[in-house]
Amino acid sequence: MKRAFYKPRLVTRVIFSLLFFCSPAIYAFEEVPIIPRCKSLEPQEGFYPLQQQIRISITGADAQGVFYGLQSLKQMLPAAIFDQDDTAHREAFSDLRIGFVKIEDVTRFKWRGFMLDSCRHIQTIDKIKQYIDLMALYKMNVFHWHLTDDEAWRAEIKKYPKLTSIGGYPGDRSKDEELNGYYTQEQMREIVAYAHERYIKVVPEFDIPGHVNALLMAYPEHGCNKGGPLKMGEPGMRSFSSAAGRRAICAGKHETTIPFIMEVFEELQTIFTDGLFHVGGDERPRGNWEKCTHCVALRNKQKLKDEHHLQNWFLNEVSERLRKRGIRTVGWAEHIQGGVPEGQIVQAWNKPSEALQGVRAGREVINSYNRKIYLDYPV
Ligand SMILES: [Zn+2]
Repeated sequence: MKRAFYKPRLVTRVIFSLLFFCSPAIYAFEEVPIIPRCKSLEPQEGFYPLQQQIRISITGADAQGVFYGLQSLKQMLPAAIFDQDDTAHREAFSDLRIGFVKIEDVTRFKWRGFMLDSCRHIQTIDKIKQYIDLMALYKMNVFHWHLTDDEAWRAEIKKYPKLTSIGGYPGDRSKDEELNGYYTQEQMREIVAYAHERYIKVVPEFDIPGHVNALLMAYPEHGCNKGGPLKMGEPGMRSFSSAAGRRAICAGKHETTIPFIMEVFEELQTIFTDGLFHVGGDERPRGNWEKCTHCVALRNKQKLKDEHHLQNWFLNEVSERLRKRGIRTVGWAEHIQGGVPEGQIVQAWNKPSEALQGVRAGREVINSYNRKIYLDYPV
């Protein structure tokens, strides 16, 4: 039997117009009929021309479901339609054919995330939007934006400007473009809005108590009282962490460090409105807290067994305050050994057993085991 094709030239333009220029509300129809012009089949022996209506029909349980249906349709088109070159793009649209097909699909996992590290290297807003477009195409729904680390602090905090004026510039200011810079609050809002238009939540990551060298470069008073002072960035220095050794926020000075952290989150909460914050909790450098008189005193006062339990106490304090503000926290799984703060989502990354431990602790778990899904790890 001859396979039937039609040329939905007009149709695809309509679809992409919808995608690019209309608000998400337009997808809120129960069914979106996309009807091309009727195509006449060639008259055959003794038969009158037959008028046949062909349509692409996408139905979803909600607007997001219809949006994903449109992504499936895009995936069926030639890759050249995504070409940035105008001529190639036009040519790709000149002879589009799609086979008759029926697809029924539903997402299997509720957290389909993509993490972008903007600390070790910074990306432009346009580049981040490209990543978000690709996420939408693959029906991902969580953009995990890693914004602070030892190497840099990338998020503008108006109350604490040194976080970015110092922490945002680990490289040589005259040449290391890819290392230097930060995102203004307006730019971060732009990214959040762009993601939301594509049904993607934004979960920013602000690491505590470890991975904070950039923070401590700017505000060293929040570090422990032993371990040597951090050096300011020097010309040509490639990263804060390699130059100065790793530090942690002082848990023992919690009467000043936790209010400082909460003030930072207070500003960020007006930008990242999805109610989820990643608070890190991984790779806290050993030794900082053991040598610090404030941290040792707190451990003794709270009768905490070791540093892991001190970290759990510290993260619990922060998570509980955030929970009261309507924010749920996510943490890397390796701090599981000291117990997981109440209500926290566990993100497993280092060992397959971490995911299991999180489940056994009764927590929701994000499985991002590095050997399988990190792009910078060997398979
Ligand atoms: Zn300390």
